[in-house]
Amino acid sequence: MKKVIVIGGGIAGLAAAYRIQREISAGAPLECSLLEGGDQFGGKIATERSDGFVIERGPDSFISQKPAAIRLCEQLGIADHLVGTNPETPSTYVYTGGRLVTMPDGLSLMIPTKFLPFALTPLFSLSGKIRMAFDLLIPKKVDENDESLASFVRRRMGEEALRKMAEPMLAGIYASDPETMSIGSTFPMFVETERKYRSLILGMLARKKAMLLNANKRPANNYSLFMTLKDGLGEMVEAVIKKSPDIQFESGARVESISGKEGDWCVNLEGGGEHKADALILATPGHITARLLQPVAPNAAETLKRIKYVSTAAVTLAYKKEGFSHALDGFGFVVPKCEGRSILACTWTSSKFPHRAPEGYVMLRCYLGGALQEDIAEKDEQTLATLVRQDLKEIMGIEEEPVFCKVFHNRKSNVQYHVNHSRHIDSIMKDLENFPGLFLAGSAYRGIGIPDCIQNGNQSAESAIQFLTGKS
Ligand SMILES: Cc1cc2nc3c(=O)[nH]c(=O)nc-3n(C[C@H](O)[C@H](O)[C@H](O)COP(=O)(O)OP(=O)(O)OC[C@H]3O[C@@H](n4cnc5c(N)ncnc54)[C@H](O)[C@@H]3O)c2cc1C
Repeated sequence: MKKVIVIGGGIAGLAAAYRIQREISAGAPLECSLLEGGDQFGGKIATERSDGFVIERGPDSFISQKPAAIRLCEQLGIADHLVGTNPETPSTYVYTGGRLVTMPDGLSLMIPTKFLPFALTPLFSLSGKIRMAFDLLIPKKVDENDESLASFVRRRMGEEALRKMAEPMLAGIYASDPETMSIGSTFPMFVETERKYRSLILGMLARKKAMLLNANKRPANNYSLFMTLKDGLGEMVEAVIKKSPDIQFESGARVESISGKEGDWCVNLEGGGEHKADALILATPGHITARLLQPVAPNAAETLKRIKYVSTAAVTLAYKKEGFSHALDGFGFVVPKCEGRSILACTWTSSKFPHRAPEGYVMLRCYLGGALQEDIAEKDEQTLATLVRQDLKEIMGIEEEPVFCKVFHNRKSNVQYHVNHSRHIDSIMKDLENFPGLFLAGSAYRGIGIPDCIQNGNQSAESAIQFLTGKS
């Protein structure tokens, strides 16, 4: 029997453990433990269920275009619990100039693909629209160096597109500063589109056409762009544990240090206790992994230390539906930084997804902090609740008393992919080739989204299985 230990029970570690479980079920002579430092498994994924409300402390959905999360749900037998966004109210708003303005129809991420809605939208000034249309003429970048999201968008579509769309919509997903975040590691499809089609608008139109043609050939699926689970993303976590009878899941097992060499690793727990293993999968956040790697693989650890994390906070509020002062006719809104508000975005959760609030209630979730306003995320619960209610009153006219207001701090939780991120990751992975049996998984490396982390967990497990069994 060969033993593998997964350290960290977030979705990447859980996906790795489940991949190993499937190998054990198929007869592989493997033993596996998953050591989680906290009381709960799931890491950033944490669902609270109370009185018919489904409240997410961290992520609330995942993108369906990357198949790993949907595939995992299928393997776990919970695909019938997948739910998409409400097709009746798909609008997203931008708060600009003191009011909520709908994103123009045909905007694909930030690229206009329909002329009329774009020409008529009050979201951009005439000069802003003309500058965005210059994308049709501007030559493509000649070198292949990485650049920031801000530099990319400014170059192709101008300052207004950056401030009103790219910063709140795209950098917002990463809670990042567009001036420092890497376009290559966060939105590689934009870089590829520019390389292939020169113009983002022409490239997006060509892709849309190809997708329409392919849609006729492929069997249709019913997935919306964002998907979640009926009882919250925590369902995925619970199902992995339930469907992995051969994995030893240990919570409250915080790893203090690791030591050893090829095929002979030792894991020391905080408060005493040690485990031996032939292979380790480190699925902890980057800064913890750096600390664990320091005595074993110091070069990789030093590079890993450069990857920064920022704090965010999420505030969920529920209200009685009867007499509620807003129609909530959309998915919510984003707020550009130049508007000077505390909140970065607000999801109208009960309109966006089904099963989030019981009959007769509505629920909203606001996001604060991130790289551009990290000090706000560090404020105490009472201050955050007051700031959010003030913004909701001024932006949406909500003056009612909520039935509850829950504040969740996500301190130093959002990983930042700065310019040249992928180069640093390549160098870490290259260095780790000198330490056979050590594998890394998680959001610090090649994608922060839940599907990326699942995919990454699977790949690390497959590398560990191959290392231990010689099976490719
Ligand atoms: C607020 C927020 C909202 C997000 N929203 C979305 C979204 O809507 N959709 C989406 O796709 N993605 C979203 N993301 C990103 C996504 O949720 C994360 O990238 C992903 O869940 C990270 O998974 P992970 O397994 O890499 O790490 P984590 O979830 O951080 O798991 C790491 C685990 O390691 C454990 N650990 C730490 N130290 C030790 C130790 N010494 N010993 C043992 N265990 C240890 C931790 O307790 C934790 O459980 C969001 C992230 C945040 C923070």
